[in-house]
Amino acid sequence: MKALVKFAEGRQGMEIRDLPVPVPKGNELLVKVMAAGICGTDIHLMHDEYTYYPPVILGHEYTGTVEAVGSNVSGFSKGDQIISMTAAVTCGQCKYCREGLLMLCNERRSIGSGVNGAMAEYMVIPAELAFKLPGNVSGNDTMAIAEPLACVIRAVIEQSHVKAGDVVLVSGPGTIGQLTMLVAKMQGAYVIMSGTPQDAQRLALARQLGADAVSSDPQELRKLVENATVNGVDVAYECAGAAPSLDICIDLLKKTGNLAQVGLYGKPIPVDMDKILCKELVLSVSYATERTSWDILLKLASQGKLDKVQHLISARMPLDQWEKAFDMFANKEGYKIYLIP
Ligand SMILES: [Zn+2]
Ligand SMILES: [Zn+2]
Repeated sequence: MKALVKFAEGRQGMEIRDLPVPVPKGNELLVKVMAAGICGTDIHLMHDEYTYYPPVILGHEYTGTVEAVGSNVSGFSKGDQIISMTAAVTCGQCKYCREGLLMLCNERRSIGSGVNGAMAEYMVIPAELAFKLPGNVSGNDTMAIAEPLACVIRAVIEQSHVKAGDVVLVSGPGTIGQLTMLVAKMQGAYVIMSGTPQDAQRLALARQLGADAVSSDPQELRKLVENATVNGVDVAYECAGAAPSLDICIDLLKKTGNLAQVGLYGKPIPVDMDKILCKELVLSVSYATERTSWDILLKLASQGKLDKVQHLISARMPLDQWEKAFDMFANKEGYKIYLIP
């Protein structure tokens, strides 16, 4: 089978290889991959800015169909379309494993970096991490976006507890920002989305997908917040992973508001802690997902509430064209780009 393998440093340390189809162990599913999304993490991996265990097949965002099941697997059969959590290897013993916070296990190795992932024709995944997709969202590859969506569900629904009527700022209109806006809308919030002047198209899409107000101008943004609130926004989601965006969030939050960090900066940044202290802001962060985030995702999916995410899939490209696809993604051409093996 064809697979995109990271075997050494840099971009030249990545290539399409022809590998044997993996054989599922007793507790595993063999999955025929329908689509694998490119994520910022994959770009970091390409540049060796994220831990990996070479040689490894990249890809942690995917959907696919069960091709074969291990001898101890029940509840799945050939043809089921699945999505899955990514922490394929964990210790199973530590406090975090026992609490279902697999991503925080010190021994965690996730698909696409620690063990072989989804940018391949086939992959294996422990059955206990997989979820069957409801019928209304199966038969197509849209739900390859499930992993980042589950991260956002964790950030918005599980960690920040936004409520109907809250006024929310989403700073950064990339894929994560758009998903954050969609989930905050489902929670009943009034959502203001902000970006830079280069984000005009992205902000227009946000408006189209349901954001209540958008702006790329700091002055105008402040007006929008003043018009919609008395004291400032209730929750601000920093989704850009950029220091100026964080400053805007801190500035526009009401006192005692909730500063929710969703984006990754990739480096240490200056933070005005005094402002956070003087406003008594509450900080909520979310790193990846837990099982409950996926349960919520599946319920929303079966209720037909995730249909809008399809607008965030900008391109589908053959796995062979990974270099072009990675470049498009890195250059912010569109949102999610799916590789089709
Ligand atoms: Zn990702
Ligand atoms: Zn553990």
